[in-house]
Parts: sequence; C-alpha cells; structure tokens
Amino acid sequence: MIIPKTREEIELMREAAQVVSRTLGMLAPLVKPGVTTQELNDIAEAYIREQDAIPGFLGLYDCPSTLLTSVNEAVVHGLPTNIPLKEGDIVSIDCGAIKHGFYGDHAYTFQVGEVAAATKKLLDVTKESLYIGMRAFKKGNRVGDVGFAIQQYCEGHGYGVVRELVGHGLGRKMHEDPELPNYGKRGRGKKFIEGMTLAMEPMINLGTHKVRQLDDGWTIVTQDGQPSAHFEHNIALVDGKPQLLSTFDFVYEALGIVSDEEDEFRR
Ligand code: MG
Ligand code: MG
Repeated sequence: MIIPKTREEIELMREAAQVVSRTLGMLAPLVKPGVTTQELNDIAEAYIREQDAIPGFLGLYDCPSTLLTSVNEAVVHGLPTNIPLKEGDIVSIDCGAIKHGFYGDHAYTFQVGEVAAATKKLLDVTKESLYIGMRAFKKGNRVGDVGFAIQQYCEGHGYGVVRELVGHGLGRKMHEDPELPNYGKRGRGKKFIEGMTLAMEPMINLGTHKVRQLDDGWTIVTQDGQPSAHFEHNIALVDGKPQLLSTFDFVYEALGIVSDEEDEFRR
C-alpha cells in the first residue's frame, strides 16, 4: 500500500533527506586515494548525530554500518573496510538518516582521483538516467514508465541495468511501497499518486546486468567484474510533478562542479 504524505510531512522528509545531502557533501572532499571507507563511515556517523539525526542504516536488517560503500565492481550494499581507496577507483556512498521519524536515503558515486574515460561516462550516464527517470514520475504515469525511461536510456549506451535491486517508497519506513525497478514497460505497474515519496536509484553496470552476492552476505557485485554506478535521490509528487527532497548541491559545492540539472525539480 502506497502511503501518501501531507505537505507538512513532506517538509519533514525534506529535512531528513537534507541531513544525508549535507553528509555526502561533507564526505566529497575526503574521497581521495589513501582514505578508507571505514574512516568515511565513522566521520559520517558523527556528522549525522551532530545534526540531531540518527544513522538510518545502522542496525536496520542487522546492517553494521552507517554508510554502504560500494567500490568499483560492487553495485550496492558494500560494507566499509580498512582497505585504502586508490587512484582510479569509484565508490558509491549510500547513506541513510532518520529525522522527525522519517528516513532520508540517497547515494552518490564518487571518483577517486582520475578515473578511466569509460568509467567516467558510466557515471555521467547513470546520473543522467536518474533525472530522466524523475521526469517520468508525474501525475498519470505508473511505476513502469520510470523503469522504462531509465532502462531505455542506459541500455541505449550498451550498459546493463541491474534487475535484482530496485528503488522504493520512502517514509517512516526505509522501504515502503511501491518497489521501483529501473527497468519496465510503459503504462504498467502502480499508478503514481499525489504526496507519494520515493527513493529512485538506478544501479547501472558497464557490462552485464548480472550480479551476485559476496560471502559477507551484503555486497552485491557485477558477475563480470566490470564497474557499476549508483545514484539515488529522494523525491515527492507535489502538484502532480516530481519535487526533489534531496540535493547533490553540497557535493557539487565541495567539488567545484557547476550544474543546473536539479533546477527543474526544485520546490
Ligand atoms: Mg540508498
Ligand atoms: Mg534506497
């Protein structure tokens, strides 16, 4: 059952999402060769608590960490480690926070120093696919319209669209209805309703769409060992249109990136 939120609840969710947005922005300049994902995790946990929020992942489904850090061929759900990141790596940092009883949950895939041109393009296309998916999140559309839009765009670049993991409704629970696959058929699935709130998160592979889980019971990796990218935003359907609750502005500010990609989705 989809749980629509009131305008007031959406504003509270925006605050929860912004805790995560600020945390990703705080981490952005620290993602460099030599840093470990465990160090990033510990800094993030302290920073979330400083904002009078609670780490959203820690303890949920027995998750042992504040961040999920997925390096190179890891798609999502990588656990922080003491292995230093190295030049040319990419790392998806997925972060959750609870504030006012609501969850924020989003992710950005960072480059560690300079990365291969093919990997950079995978990151650009995956992030763009998130905005393309968001444009399909509007009154009259259905879950399948978003999946179709993301799949069409990413497969058009020859990439693999992960099937086993999907976006989701978001609210007082981390995972609410509906499930939001990054593939699908136009006009199929649950209809979007005013006030619904989503975590949209394309997970896109440079090669095959096939994935497997590591023995740690968490990390999902590509079957062919090629890199995978993951970007996630939190959005609400307001006046029939998609509105961002999260932002990558803090990341861009930290990295000196100029972007207008979020403008059409602002309040
Ligand atoms: Mg997430
Ligand atoms: Mg999510």
